[in-house]
Amino acid sequence: MKKTLLKRLLSLSLVLVMLIPVAGAATKARNAAIPGTPQNVPESLQIDWNYRYTFAELEEQLAAMAEAYPKLTDLYSIGTSWQERDLWCLEITGNTGKKENKTGIGVIANIHGGERESAASAMYTAWWFLLNSNTPYVKNILKNYVIYIVPVMNPDGYEQSFVNKNRPNLRPTDRNGNGVPFSDPYTDIDGDTFISTLYRANADGSINTKAKFGMESPDWDKNGILGDDPRSSTIDMNRTFDYQWNRFDIETKGYENGQIGQHAWSSGGEAPATEPEVKAIQSFLYNTPMHAMATLHTGIQCVLYPWCYRAYDENNPKDADIPFMKETAEKMCAAWAEGADSDCYTMDSYHDYITSAEMIDYAYGRLGIHAYTIEVYDEDKWEDTPETKDVFHTYAELKAMGLDVEHITDANGVGLKEGEGLWFRTSSVDQMVHRAPEHQDQMCEGTLQSILVMIESEPHGDGAQVPRYVR
Ligand SMILES: [Zn+2]
Repeated sequence: MKKTLLKRLLSLSLVLVMLIPVAGAATKARNAAIPGTPQNVPESLQIDWNYRYTFAELEEQLAAMAEAYPKLTDLYSIGTSWQERDLWCLEITGNTGKKENKTGIGVIANIHGGERESAASAMYTAWWFLLNSNTPYVKNILKNYVIYIVPVMNPDGYEQSFVNKNRPNLRPTDRNGNGVPFSDPYTDIDGDTFISTLYRANADGSINTKAKFGMESPDWDKNGILGDDPRSSTIDMNRTFDYQWNRFDIETKGYENGQIGQHAWSSGGEAPATEPEVKAIQSFLYNTPMHAMATLHTGIQCVLYPWCYRAYDENNPKDADIPFMKETAEKMCAAWAEGADSDCYTMDSYHDYITSAEMIDYAYGRLGIHAYTIEVYDEDKWEDTPETKDVFHTYAELKAMGLDVEHITDANGVGLKEGEGLWFRTSSVDQMVHRAPEHQDQMCEGTLQSILVMIESEPHGDGAQVPRYVR
């Protein structure tokens, strides 16, 4: 962490100069009592919110927060991933009042490993609460609420995303069928630190994106197909919760964007809650009295609420709290947009796109917790990602990289001829693996503001909105 500290501090100070007017204006508009971005931050908690930290660095930051605020925090692991990384929860509450009388609030981020801006937003929320814990506004919240922050629930996917942006977890998976999981992982062979998609050249030498030659890899498994067993499962953990699991299957039709099951049956795993990370979160939600929770994602900018699997039905008693969540989501979305100084939309998750067995449906359907999805980053809304990069490598250059050029083939099994070569295409997303977008601090601020609205929407202590299983 130390070698780039100066650089980070420099960029942090630039960012503070730029950001404060935006954040200050946003918070004042809604509630003048809400404190702004913390000032006079002790050295151990100086964090650049536009920097991409490794999972190990996030662990250090969580430990530093717990160490600096021992009376307000409890840091514990609620489970482990396939690769034995911890799923950390930082619990934050004031040391007055009985915990069982307080309102539980959950913030669970990064179920999709590559969506790392969501983890940063959860970390920022914890950091903001602790550094502002002397202000009357935060003191009052911590007197009445317990906030549970799990910034990374897919740490293996988070870490793998430093190689290649990766949504699933790392359940050992054998995609090339040779009996060995992850036997042809993506590997940088041209030394530019990025993983490229490889294509054959057209006759005139230009890139032919129809003739795909696999992914950048030395062909570790020696089957001639490059990168065909990457370090990633095919499971979308946000389709594997134990509620309406795999409700829609492959033959179900009628959904306007194709088959209704396209978002679940192929990615929901073999049974409900098969993954250790999902088991850990389910048991945590089951055992922790929680009135509201937000799961943080990236890809779009919105606040969604249940259901994911069907439309609202005013005659169904199970839908009783959905109008309340709709109204709260609208306020959360407005606060996000103002805090981040960007766009946000809101709707029920079903009308955004249909899925089943998502975390918010589990939380509300199974446990009665008011549950929201906050999507914190749509790269198309910000001009801070690089252009796609295309580089041609000749037959001789590929050989020099260690490729067995005589035996590698494209998707149709056609090999390379001498004199041909390959184009290495690196998308904008693939070039962002080591770094955060320039405006991540704004997304963090928007998400915090949205979470504050969610907290304020829940009554203090016991009341009509206490989850069913606690009553
Ligand atoms: Zn996601």
